[in-house]
Amino acid sequence: MASYIAAIDQGTTSTRCMIFDHSGGVVAVNQKEHRQLFPKAGWVEHDPLEIWNNVRQVCAGALAKADLVSSDIAACGITNQRETTVVWEKATGKPVYNAIVWQDTRTDEIVSELGRSEGQSRFQAKTGLPLATYFSGPKLKWLLDNVNGIRARAEKGELLFGNMDTWVLWNSTGGPDGGLHVTDPTNASRTLLMDLETLQWDPDICAEIGVPMSMLPEIRSSSEVYGQFRERGVFAGIPIAGILGDQQAATFGQACLSPGEAKNTYGTGNFVLLNTGTERVISQNGLLTTVGYKIGDNDTIYCLEGSIAVTGSLVQWLRDNLGMIGTAPEIEQVASSVDDNGGAYFVPAFSGLFAPHWRSDARGAIVGLTRYVNRGHLARAVLEATAFQTREVIEAMNADSGVPLKSLKVDGGMVVNELLMQFQADILGVPVIRPKVNETTALGAAYAAGLAVGFWESEADIRSNWAKDKQWDPAMTEDLREKHYANWQKAVTKTFDWVD
Ligand code: ADP
Repeated sequence: MASYIAAIDQGTTSTRCMIFDHSGGVVAVNQKEHRQLFPKAGWVEHDPLEIWNNVRQVCAGALAKADLVSSDIAACGITNQRETTVVWEKATGKPVYNAIVWQDTRTDEIVSELGRSEGQSRFQAKTGLPLATYFSGPKLKWLLDNVNGIRARAEKGELLFGNMDTWVLWNSTGGPDGGLHVTDPTNASRTLLMDLETLQWDPDICAEIGVPMSMLPEIRSSSEVYGQFRERGVFAGIPIAGILGDQQAATFGQACLSPGEAKNTYGTGNFVLLNTGTERVISQNGLLTTVGYKIGDNDTIYCLEGSIAVTGSLVQWLRDNLGMIGTAPEIEQVASSVDDNGGAYFVPAFSGLFAPHWRSDARGAIVGLTRYVNRGHLARAVLEATAFQTREVIEAMNADSGVPLKSLKVDGGMVVNELLMQFQADILGVPVIRPKVNETTALGAAYAAGLAVGFWESEADIRSNWAKDKQWDPAMTEDLREKHYANWQKAVTKTFDWVD
């Protein structure tokens, strides 16, 4: 019997393939970055063909690193950057335009127009989402309205829409030669086009936004055998048996499997997800209601989500746009050269502000500057921005659920940063806990695939595989915590009204 499970993690900055053993341990990782295309201010694109090429390369690379062959892999799961939107020709697999990435704000006007008479929350009861540039539906409308001739072609059934999960699955299972046009409810719940209760595309909303339903993928569960890799060569014949959007995958991989359990992933952006069980809690405080996972025929599990657009990418900005650090990890050393932020607060509203504000008119600001502030203080302000933004969404969650969070499980690229983790515990006033396997996104997709083929028996296996690596306890006084947070809240108000 095959002894391993693979996962493809098609992320915002890179694509990874990981191979796991039965205990959830990492056997091999192979990763490749792709280009970030910024054609105009506020626009962010990826080349879908470059990404598909990278998928094939990282899968081959991971197998080679682990010294395994396809028949050693029991199943493969897919996890992906969510909302990012691709449209391609059914007959050739050729994209009609670059992928429009989740951070892209070009749909500003479309979103304002859609909300003009009935407001930003007009689709919230059905979809769990406010109208925002973040989601796929408006991005798809932009493509249909702006790329020459494609609306007519879409209406004739010649074009397909997908998020990155669907793009990878369709290509993996044969592309133009019988590729499966399928997604799962976690990805579909980020389009603004799916009814959260029925897990089906909503015809009224599709009509309002102007999306032909024939181009939408079929919504299946997050854990079942969809098909096999049809590529000749690498991964040929391996069943593809799980699909979860990256943040839902991390929630699953962190074993947040009961109502009240939450995790925060620190990557390009930050995403806090709180399991609310089978209940769809509609937020009164700027959070999203989203599908957490649907394992085969089991009940759908929902989550409340606080999405923060810019956290780790602010560290990249400091590196790439200011040249203040040479590598991302160097920020910790620079920030440690001072004891505090020197009064400086950095609100990175580069894509407007997501949760809990949902202000597309916001733009970034550094406030509290005096002649005293140096690069160490700014480095600290950059790291602290992640922790403050996290506190904002945790407060919203506490208000929505009525139950204060007791501890926070964390993962993602930034959680190696000890200064940030301690400050996070200080500013939240609850312990922050990092698991042994930090690659929870890929692991979650592997679990979804492994459950579908009986490699793991039940969710109890996921719980027993989870183990703590390190915990940070709050050490700041209540007075200082609240003073810092009040300053942050004041700084946030300075970013509003920069764009009409
Ligand atoms: P994603 O999955 O969104 O592509 P990752 O989880 O790989 O992101 O995390 C990468 C992010 O973490 C980058 O934005 C990078 O700037 C940030 N990062 C990496 N190492 C550190 C560090 N030591 N301190 C702070 N930020 C870091």
